[in-house]
Amino acid sequence: MSASVLLARRGCRVLLCERGQRLGRKLSASGNGQGNVTNVHMGAEHYFSDDTDKVDRALRRFSWKDTVLFLEEMGGIFLPDARGRVYPAGRQASAVTDLLRAEISRLGVEVRTDAQVTQLTYRNGFVAVCGGQKFSADRVILAAGGMAAPNFGTDGSAFALAENFGHTVLPCKPVLVQLRCDPASVRGLKGIRVDANVCVRRKGQTVFEGRGDLLFTESGVSGDAVFRASSYAVKGDMLIVDFLPDVCEERLKEALTRNTGADKLLCIVNNGLGRALLKQAKDEKDLLRLLKRFPLEVTGTLGFGYAQATRGGIPLKETDEDLQSLKQQGLFFAGEILNVDGECGGYNLQWAFTSAHLAAEGALS
Ligand SMILES: Cc1cc2nc3c(=O)[nH]c(=O)nc-3n(C[C@H](O)[C@H](O)[C@H](O)COP(=O)(O)OP(=O)(O)OC[C@H]3O[C@@H](n4cnc5c(N)ncnc54)[C@H](O)[C@@H]3O)c2cc1C
Repeated sequence: MSASVLLARRGCRVLLCERGQRLGRKLSASGNGQGNVTNVHMGAEHYFSDDTDKVDRALRRFSWKDTVLFLEEMGGIFLPDARGRVYPAGRQASAVTDLLRAEISRLGVEVRTDAQVTQLTYRNGFVAVCGGQKFSADRVILAAGGMAAPNFGTDGSAFALAENFGHTVLPCKPVLVQLRCDPASVRGLKGIRVDANVCVRRKGQTVFEGRGDLLFTESGVSGDAVFRASSYAVKGDMLIVDFLPDVCEERLKEALTRNTGADKLLCIVNNGLGRALLKQAKDEKDLLRLLKRFPLEVTGTLGFGYAQATRGGIPLKETDEDLQSLKQQGLFFAGEILNVDGECGGYNLQWAFTSAHLAAEGALS
């Protein structure tokens, strides 16, 4: 959608094919419906890719400030929250989609919905087969997403279009997703939400540490801190949860000695959590451990159906600086279809905007 706006503004004739009934359905669902479009703490260190140096260069060419400018030029006000996450002031993701849709319409971009591109070939120009019709083009930007949230039209089937030109597709895994844990370890905790510090440990090493919301679910854990941890965690890793990151062990120990009985943890942790921990703890030392280092073994994730992003896809190394295919001149990539995924907090949409701008610039040259 962004690339088509940029190309149409520069006088190109653009055809935008969307498999679904409406443009930008995933964008409308982003950020819990509030549209976390980017983050002021931007940098390649927040991304995973086979070529993070290229991600770094791309983000320098089109930064989070450029995203805000691009959006505000179309309308609205975009503001960061205390953690740097940028949202539309009206906190409605669908309104961001509406801005883009309105601009697309104003610029006269030809939009086809219910239009899945099923074949893409090149012979003196590109030919795309879409709903039984053939369309020709000088340049193509493939921005068909990854495999996360297939209910929004992204089931990975578009990778075949790139494979047809000799591209590889790196194995995909869901990220920014709920983690599954041993059901016994979360029994009785379902529905409890806490502000916690979450640490991912593997073979005695910490591979991630972050603070935020943690929500216990039927099969594991969810919430902002867990989503961030899911970018790092793999099956077999341990999540170590500190339910009281602002309270040192000494102070906690002192409070536990002062208070007795079943009310021991009142006003220390959430009541439901307190009851469950008291039931589990063998003694006071063990209770302290559970409060500060609650262990959960990761047994998997809830899968692509529940994920916000995809790790894997078309290697970034198979593209040039403008994200043009190194296998087929005139073919560009943008967004999640590429092997770039960001942490939770606006990084994935920033990549979508950055890559769309690079691809559009490349397609224009
Ligand atoms: C619930 C949810 C919440 C999220 N929240 C945030 C957030 O707050 N901040 C953030 O930064 N990121 C968020 N993300 C991630 C972010 O939305 C995606 O990374 C981003 O939308 C990717 O943009 P894209 O243009 O590459 O692909 P998409 O937005 O996935 O769009 C790809 C489009 O291509 C269409 N398509 C697929 N195949 C074909 C085909 N063959 N022919 C025609 N059309 C096709 C699909 O129908 C789809 O509409 C969220 C994701 C989800 C699922």
